[in-house]
Amino acid sequence: MKTEDYIALEEQYGAHNYNPLDVVITRGEGVWLYDAEGKRYLDCLSAYSAVNQGHVHPKILEALQTQAARLTLTSRAFHNDQLPLLYKELHDMTGYEMSLPMNSGTEAVETALKLARKWAYQVKGVPRYDAEIITCEGNFHGRSISVVTFSDEELYRNDFGPFTPGFIIAPYGDAPAIEAAITPNTAAVLVEPIQGENGVILPPEGYLQRLSQICDQHSVLLIADEIQTGLGRTGRLFASEHEGVRPDMLIIGKALSGGFYPVSAVLADKAIMGLFTPGEHGSTFGGNPLGAAIARAALQVIQEEKLIENASILGEYFIEQLVEIPSPHVKEVRGKGLMIGVELSPEAGGARRFAEALQKDGILLKETHEHVLRFAPPLVIERETIDWALPHIRRALNIP
Ligand SMILES: *Cc1c(COP(=O)(O)O)cnc(C)c1O
Repeated sequence: MKTEDYIALEEQYGAHNYNPLDVVITRGEGVWLYDAEGKRYLDCLSAYSAVNQGHVHPKILEALQTQAARLTLTSRAFHNDQLPLLYKELHDMTGYEMSLPMNSGTEAVETALKLARKWAYQVKGVPRYDAEIITCEGNFHGRSISVVTFSDEELYRNDFGPFTPGFIIAPYGDAPAIEAAITPNTAAVLVEPIQGENGVILPPEGYLQRLSQICDQHSVLLIADEIQTGLGRTGRLFASEHEGVRPDMLIIGKALSGGFYPVSAVLADKAIMGLFTPGEHGSTFGGNPLGAAIARAALQVIQEEKLIENASILGEYFIEQLVEIPSPHVKEVRGKGLMIGVELSPEAGGARRFAEALQKDGILLKETHEHVLRFAPPLVIERETIDWALPHIRRALNIP
C-alpha cells in the first residue's frame, strides 16, 4: 500500500481528532524515520519526547522481547518480579523515596491531583472537598475531563463540560500571581518547568525557585509535570534541576518507556506518597511486569549512553546554530537542551507551511501552537546529523 492508501483508510474509518502531516511512517531507527515509500526523515518531534532514546532502541527492544516471552501482566493483585526493581532504580536515579506507576501521562497527572487533595485533607487540614489546586495559563497536562477543566485552550475544552471544581488558573511565569492565588484551602501548585505544548515557553529565570519558596511558606505542594521536560530532554535529568528545585511531587511519562509502551509515574517522598492506602487508587495495567521491564531498560539507556549530557551539549550547539540562520520569518529562537522552539512572526503565515517545507527535505516536526516550530530530536542525535539538517532548516526558514 502507498501513502495515500493508508491516509484514505484512516480518513474513512478513524476518528478525526488529529491533523497529521501527509506522511505514513513504517519504520524507525535511532533519529531516523522511514515512510511507506522508503523515504528517510530526521525525526525532530520524538513523539513529544517519548522517544528520547531514539526509535526502536535495541536494548529496550531486547528487554521488551525477553519480558514479553516470560510474563506480561498479573494485575496488582499479585506482586511481580520487575516492579520492585523499577521502584528501587527510580529511587536511586531521582532521590525520591517512593513512586506510583501508571500508564498514560494523563493518568499520572490525575494521580498526583488525587494525592495532593488527600494530603490537603489529611495533613494540611483543609475542610473536606474544599481543596484548591492552582494551575497555570497555557498549560498542557492531558485530556481527561478533570485535566481539561484547567486548560485555557478552547479547543481542548469546548463542549466537554461540565467540568471538575477545585482548580484555579493563574498566569504562567508570574510567581507573585501564584502567591496571590493561594488561599488556606490551596493544596498544590501544578506547573510545567517549560511549557512544551504551549510553544516551548520558558518562564523567567528564578521562577521555579521562587514558586518552591512560596509553596514552602504557605504549606502548599509543588507538583512539577515533567512528562515532557523530564528524563534528559532539557540537558538535566529533570528541568527543575536547572534551578536547584526539588518539587514535592514529580510526574514523568513519555520517555520513561523510550516509546515502546505507555509507562508513567508519580514520584514523591513517603510523607506524601505514603498517604495512599490499599484500594484507594489503581490501574489494571499500571506497574505491570512488561511495562516495568521496559521502563528499567529505558532508564538504563539514558544513563549508559549519557543522553542527558548529549542533550545539554548538542542542545546548546543546535540553538547557537539556529540563532545564526538569517530569516525574515523568525521572531525568536529559545529553548533548553534539545527542547527548542523557533517562534515565527505572525506575518509568516503560520508554522505549518514551514513544517511541510521541511518534510519535503526529509525533516519531520510539527507546528506547536500556530507560530512555533519545535525542534526536539531524540537525545541520541549526533553533531553531524544536526549539521546535515541545518542547511535544510535554513532553506525552509527562507521560503517566501
Ligand atoms: C504528553 C503530556 C501529558 C499527557 O501525557 P499522555 O501520555 O498523552 O496522557 C501531560 N503533561 C505534559 C507536560 C505532556 O507533555
